[in-house]
Amino acid sequence: MEARRWLALLLALGCLFEALDASPGDFDPLYRTCVEQCEKTGIIGDISIQDCQFPSNEIPVNSPWYMQEPLYLQWKQLNCKSDCRYNCMMQREKEREKLGLSPVKYHGKWPFKRVFVFQEPLSAVLSALNLLMHFTGWLSFFLLVNYKLPLRPQSKRTYYEYTGLWHIYAVLSMNAWFWSAIFHTRDFDLTEKLDYSSAVASLGFSLILCLLRTFNVKDEASRVMFAAPILAFVTTHILYLNFYQLDYGWNMKVCLVMGVTTLLVWAIWAGITRHPSRVKLWVTVFGIALSMLLEIYDFPPYMGYADAHALWHAATIPLTYLWWSFIKDDAVFRTSALVKKAK
Ligand SMILES: [Zn+2]
Repeated sequence: MEARRWLALLLALGCLFEALDASPGDFDPLYRTCVEQCEKTGIIGDISIQDCQFPSNEIPVNSPWYMQEPLYLQWKQLNCKSDCRYNCMMQREKEREKLGLSPVKYHGKWPFKRVFVFQEPLSAVLSALNLLMHFTGWLSFFLLVNYKLPLRPQSKRTYYEYTGLWHIYAVLSMNAWFWSAIFHTRDFDLTEKLDYSSAVASLGFSLILCLLRTFNVKDEASRVMFAAPILAFVTTHILYLNFYQLDYGWNMKVCLVMGVTTLLVWAIWAGITRHPSRVKLWVTVFGIALSMLLEIYDFPPYMGYADAHALWHAATIPLTYLWWSFIKDDAVFRTSALVKKAK
C-alpha cells in the first residue's frame, strides 16, 4: 500500500515537471490542433508549407535521387515542423492580440518575427558581433605579445605567463558565440545542444583561467591540480546534457554558479592586488553582473524583435572590448615586471 502511494506521488510529480517544461503558448489546444493539422496537410489558412508537401512514405519512384535519401527527408520533416510551429504561433498571437491579450511563450521562447531563415534575427546578429569582438580582441592581443613586447632571449617565448591560456580562452569564446549565432538562427535539437555545450565549456574555462591568474599559478603541476576537478566536472556536465537529459534548470544553476564565482574572484582580486588596470576589470565585472539582470527580468520582444536576451547579447559587445583591453594591459604589466626582474 505504502509503495503504491509513493508511486502515485512520483507519477504526479512527473506530470507536474512535464507541465512546467511546456510553455503557456504551446499548451493552448488551438495552437496544438493547428500544428497537428499543418504537419498533416502542409496548409494553414492561405499559407502552404513546401516541406510538408509530400509525406515520407509516398515518394514518387521517378523523383530525383536526393528526395529518396533518409537524411534529406529528415531535414524536410524538421523544417516542416519548425515552419508549422512558427505559422501557427503567429496566427494564434494575431488572434490573441485582437482579444487584447499579451504575448506568451511557445516551447520556452517568445514569439519572434522571422527574417529570411533567421528565427531570432537580432540575437543571431548580436552573437555574430560578439564573435567579431572576441576575434579582434584576440588578434590585437596576439600582435601585442608576439611582436610589440620583448620575448625571452633564450626560448623566444613571451614573458607573459598566461599567453597560451588566453589563446585557448579566445578559441572557446569564439566557438561559443558561433554556435549561439547558429542556434538563434535555427533552433533544432542539435543546434541547441551545441550552443549549450559550447557555452558551458567557455564558462568552465573562464573559471579555470580566472583562478590560475588570480592565484598566480605558474608551474604546470599546480595548474593541472587547479584545472582537473573543474575540467572533470564540466566534461561530465556536457556529457549529461547531450546524452542523458537536457535539464534547463540544472544547467542554469551550473552556469550561474560558475559565472558568479568567476566574476566575484576577479572583482575581489582587483581590489586586493591593486592591479594598474583594476578599474577596467571592475567596469567589466559590474557591467556583466548588471546585464545578467536582463536574463532574469525576461520581457517579451519589442516589435517582435528585441527581447531581454537580445539586449543581454548587445551589452556584452562593449564589455568584450573592455575585457580584451584589460587582458592586454595585464600582459604589458606582467612583462615589464618580469623584464625589470631579469635585469
Ligand atoms: Zn543567446
